[in-house]
Amino acid sequence: MTQISSPPTSSVSAASHVEALLASYPDFPQPDILFRDLNPVFADAVAFRAIIDDLADQHRGQFDAVAGIEARGFLLAAAVGYAAGAAVLAVRKGGKLPGSVLTEEYELEYGTARLELEVGQLPAGSRVLILDDVLATGGTIAATSRLIERAGYTLTGVGVVLELTDLHGRERLGAAPVHAIMSV
Ligand code: AMP
Repeated sequence: MTQISSPPTSSVSAASHVEALLASYPDFPQPDILFRDLNPVFADAVAFRAIIDDLADQHRGQFDAVAGIEARGFLLAAAVGYAAGAAVLAVRKGGKLPGSVLTEEYELEYGTARLELEVGQLPAGSRVLILDDVLATGGTIAATSRLIERAGYTLTGVGVVLELTDLHGRERLGAAPVHAIMSV
């Protein structure tokens, strides 16, 4: 019988894995955007485990639930939620959630967008960690923070794999600690 073995725990830091595997694509998806592709990090079992452990460890004991932002944030939130024994919230793009939803409109580095969260998923006051792959202008995470607070939860941290520091997104976020595994 074929068995899937656990990847070895890495002795290399999560940041080193990201630095080694991060791919950059000029002018994608439109001119003047340098697109940062983290899929090679997710596709490397040892690197993926290292980033998940790092995100969980940085905020350990400080969250009851992890909010992942569609779509790449889902990959992180599911794994960190499992590793930390925490609940998972899916923050979705507009028009995909049924029932009673909260909506926030915001501006992207390219274009505008809408994010939504179903109400009543967690007890009031639940401590929530927001996760996404890239912190660029900060609009996406700021909108998600507003959804978390409007839903009656407490934002206790933000975790990203990569922060694009020249866009100053961190300055648009509130007081909750922001952890980036790597900054460029
Ligand atoms: P922002 O709201 O500007 O912080 O943008 C963050 C969201 O857009 C994240 O979900 C990223 O996946 C995506 N994003 C923005 N800029 C980039 C970029 N240069 N490379 C890759 N993803 C990006």
